[in-house]
Amino acid sequence: MDEFSFIDCIQPEFYYQSGVQKGIGDDAAVLRIGEKDLVTATDTFVEGVHFTRETMDLDTVGYRVLAANLSDLAAMGAKPLYYLISIVMPEETDSTSFKQLFDGMARLAKEFQMDLIGGDTVQGKELVISITVFGTVNPNKVRYRHQAKPGDLVFVTGTLGDARAGLELLFQAKPYNKKERYFVERHCLPKPRVNFALALDLVQRIALNDISDGIASELNEIAIASDVTIDIQFERLPIHQNLKEIAHKELENWVLYGGEDFELVGTVSPSEWKSMQLIAKQYELPLHMIGSVRSKIELQEYVYLHKEEKKLKLCPGGYNHFRR
Ligand code: ADP
Ligand code: MG
Repeated sequence: MDEFSFIDCIQPEFYYQSGVQKGIGDDAAVLRIGEKDLVTATDTFVEGVHFTRETMDLDTVGYRVLAANLSDLAAMGAKPLYYLISIVMPEETDSTSFKQLFDGMARLAKEFQMDLIGGDTVQGKELVISITVFGTVNPNKVRYRHQAKPGDLVFVTGTLGDARAGLELLFQAKPYNKKERYFVERHCLPKPRVNFALALDLVQRIALNDISDGIASELNEIAIASDVTIDIQFERLPIHQNLKEIAHKELENWVLYGGEDFELVGTVSPSEWKSMQLIAKQYELPLHMIGSVRSKIELQEYVYLHKEEKKLKLCPGGYNHFRR
């Protein structure tokens, strides 16, 4: 059973609590608790699956786990506030390593003035770090995946495939030149697009997802949740000018299916596109229009990739831990 089939199996038929605006099925859960909605998400990193200490120091690991969580809050349009850390620690872990892990997290938490409010520490065979984040959002500005509408434009921030390139470079374990270092940093120290997502407050409706599993998977999630068809133009996908040199034959593969860029992908009405562009400019964040949304005519929701006069079905082929 893969990760996605498992999640389908555990979808409850109903929630006991009426405050659940969104339970399982988006980047984070959304709970009505007052004037603002509480948004919460959790992410777990396992040594040997998500990182190895051979290629990454624990400071970087700590930063990355929190960054992945913050990216989920960004994808909901939520302001980060608090976090909890749970750690399974091998017996031989020394206190310096432990401190490094926390330092990495604390550095990122400081950027967003987040408070560490608790967690759990237990001993076990391998190092596992699990973070739960909490944030808030105005109820009418939650950026659900199900909010895409026919006629919308599809956009993406940053460039695609960079983190995957960085991972390959890490595995090569040789010194990097300046060009290569950029990609390694994109993998090790991703920048969750929190501030940009918060600045989008002026925009009325956006469907939003963060790119943790590759843009192909994330677009399919938006199409399914919103019950629409999405068309993407390959030529419009933002690719870093130096990626070709590193990716060689893998370029298309990394751009479409490479995970953990932690950029934002979403849809917006053409009437609000200009405002979005202005905000992106203010935040010096590349923002590209890559396609459009239309009504679904087939039974299933599909994402189509248009490339050199050809139209291909873009299936969710991103990273899926159970299938590895
Ligand atoms: P993301 O990639 O955005 O972090 P995931 O693909 O990990 O999201 O999860 C998709 C949805 O499934 C989320 O709503 C998440 O909370 C839920 N989910 C994942 N694993 C579990 C689990 N073990 N129990 C309950 N819900 C889960
Ligand atoms: Mg996500």
